[in-house]
Amino acid sequence: MSSIKKVLIANRGEIALRILRACKELGIQTVAVYSTADKDLKHVRLADEAVCIGPHPSAQSYLNIPAILSAAEVTHADAIHPGYGFLSENADFAEQVEETGFIFIGPRPDNIRVMGDKVAAIEAMQKSGVPCVPGSDGALGEDDAENIRLAHKIGFPIIIKASGGGGGRGMRVVEREEDLASSIELTKTEALSFFGNGEVYMEKFLTTPRHIEIQILADQHGNAVHLGERDCSMQRRHQKVVEEAPAPGISEKLRNKIGSVCADACKVINYRGAGTFEFLFENDEFYFIEMNTRIQVEHPVTEMITGVDIVREQILIAGGDKLSIEQKDVQIKGHSIECRINAEDPNNFMPSPGTITQYHTAGGLGVRVDSHIYNGYRVPPHYDSMIGKLITFADSRDEAIMKMRNALDEMVIDGIKTNIPLQRKIMQDEVFCKGGMNIHYLEKKLGESN
Ligand code: ADP
Repeated sequence: MSSIKKVLIANRGEIALRILRACKELGIQTVAVYSTADKDLKHVRLADEAVCIGPHPSAQSYLNIPAILSAAEVTHADAIHPGYGFLSENADFAEQVEETGFIFIGPRPDNIRVMGDKVAAIEAMQKSGVPCVPGSDGALGEDDAENIRLAHKIGFPIIIKASGGGGGRGMRVVEREEDLASSIELTKTEALSFFGNGEVYMEKFLTTPRHIEIQILADQHGNAVHLGERDCSMQRRHQKVVEEAPAPGISEKLRNKIGSVCADACKVINYRGAGTFEFLFENDEFYFIEMNTRIQVEHPVTEMITGVDIVREQILIAGGDKLSIEQKDVQIKGHSIECRINAEDPNNFMPSPGTITQYHTAGGLGVRVDSHIYNGYRVPPHYDSMIGKLITFADSRDEAIMKMRNALDEMVIDGIKTNIPLQRKIMQDEVFCKGGMNIHYLEKKLGESN
């Protein structure tokens, strides 16, 4: 039983519903907060209490810190779960939540702040023994000759990245010495206008990496475990499209090696809650790129193969409980795949909001649907186009793929366009079926690579 009695869910859509379900199972009361465009969300209807926090623009509702804190006060919530996106990685928000006397279901504000600054994050990781991409070891200075020397030392191609960057923006690949100085200048200018921080750094550009990430959980008593890895290499414009666990071809030995490095790093930085270490993986080597200090969209595939309810653990940890598992209890079994279902045109990826006129969901043994949609639900045009996640689980990867093909065939979502046709194609794709494709594969397949 958690010491937390009432949780305010500061998010919307499928993750809000996911958090609501975890709270209900723990006997915890729930408060939904919503914008005027979202009064019909499923979790708003299911929550014990619901508070409208503003109009549809996120800045006035889901990013409106005073409105969210007021809602927590009037409903006497004792904890706030930020979900993913919105305020989940905003250190100032986490700090204000704690200063106002609420429990923040997430890491300590300091950890969020360090991990949100990529130069600081890499420095912290290097100190903790996490392997990083060879790079400039800090922000780049103004000295062109020194920068050229650094680039040759690392070896072209290199990538210039904004320290405050996110969402795949603020990065520039440089192939030749002649382009270096102007590329640094351009990335700095962009970084300043996008992120309000002109600091940039340099990394070796890996040409055919896979995206492999490690899920960790750490409590407030110095314990930390890893829950193995996920492969999220199937991406378009740096957005994950399909995720799976475990990653094809990663041996137990390699998993445990990188997993314990991550769990140990959590102890070094005094981390609390759930988190993900993201790596690029090339030629059997892991290279840290960033840490996400929140629950991730793709957490279900890890839950399926470990049996650990990550959201439940987040809540229990925030309430001060010890981790319910030790590393030796984490057993990886079977294979799980997740397809993100987006309300978008499968050909040109344009968002496709509107009313769902018919909805028949998939089901059966080993099929999980995390979605807030229902018959007659109107997908608003104001937010992310992801409307749910279809997840399968089976003894082997081949069987999980087979189940996913069938589940995608069963799924009917009429009235709007969805990416289900694209997901069907991916599940039939020879390279995907073999496994181990790199992060550029999907764009190449779609004819979008430049
Ligand atoms: P963001 O916070 O914007 O998501 P990341 O550092 O996680 O930025 O990088 C996003 C993506 O950019 C990676 O998943 C990868 O596709 C590409 N990328 C970043 N760094 C490198 C690198 N050193 N070599 C090759 N690709 C990279």
